[in-house]
Amino acid sequence: MSVRRETLELHTARPFGIARWTHSTYPRTFVTFESGGVTGRGEAAPNAYYGETVATVAAVLPLLAGALTDGWDWDGLQERLGARMPGGHPSVKCALETAAVEWAASSAGVPVWRRLGLSPAPILESSFTVGLGPLEDMRREAREAVARGHGVLKVKLGTNEDEAILEALREEAPGVALRVDANAAWTRPQVRRMLGVLDAARVELLEQPLAAGDLEGHAELRRLSSLPLAADESLHRVPDVPRLAGAFDGVNLKLAKLGGAAAGAGGRAAGPGAMMGCMIESSRGIAAAHLAGLCDGADLDGALLLGDDPFTGLEWQAGRLARPTGVGWGVEWR
Ligand SMILES: [Mg+2]
Repeated sequence: MSVRRETLELHTARPFGIARWTHSTYPRTFVTFESGGVTGRGEAAPNAYYGETVATVAAVLPLLAGALTDGWDWDGLQERLGARMPGGHPSVKCALETAAVEWAASSAGVPVWRRLGLSPAPILESSFTVGLGPLEDMRREAREAVARGHGVLKVKLGTNEDEAILEALREEAPGVALRVDANAAWTRPQVRRMLGVLDAARVELLEQPLAAGDLEGHAELRRLSSLPLAADESLHRVPDVPRLAGAFDGVNLKLAKLGGAAAGAGGRAAGPGAMMGCMIESSRGIAAAHLAGLCDGADLDGALLLGDDPFTGLEWQAGRLARPTGVGWGVEWR
């Protein structure tokens, strides 16, 4: 029984901007669990916002990997990971847990979704994210996404040009469902001013407009507007979900920040509405997110934003992720 790791730098096809930063390089740690000649694979997508870097992943992986004593025992793994490290390091827990999930499916010779008894139907249509950048680039990305068949766009906002960006994207993509993610960058007066603009652009969902800790502001916003509000930065741990119910209509569940697929499923059960989200991660990480096909929404475009996804095998059909036919996650090194 062994656990190996390998860290690679992934790169987005274009610099990817949100209100807090713009990056092109995303170091990710790929974990391989081997037992009895069968392997299972997971990906750690650490995010500094949630207290992780590739260095913390490398430091705690050996300690947490000791919890992986039985690839069949998914429930027990949660307990053992929690016992070794009750809080923090969610992307490492996610990588180990999803490696165990694939190991069990591969041992049985079936795709993960089959092993878990999930429907073979493609999962809900995912949004495609248009990151912040020069307006002409954002217009082009929206046009190209529509041309590739995406029917749901999520645009990042949180700048001085938000109104112009929204108008421009609506012009480029008049027929798509449009979602907005302000990444906690707006103030209460700003978001009140933006409500009319969001309405005019027929925005269907607003993600994390205000600061992570401003639950009162989000609750007040919910009383002012019928536009559905989703929590992202306000959600760090699954046990926080019930506390968010008064302030948000739904939660963005990302396995890398919640600590794995079981946590994601727990968030689904506890939450008001749930959207399965992701970090910028390879197709291997995105394959694990499809475990939560039971959600009300999907935001799984992380690998689609990459210029150098090191894995192949996932198939997208007009914004919907098809169930892979291959054993395990159904992805292989390119
Ligand atoms: Mg978000």
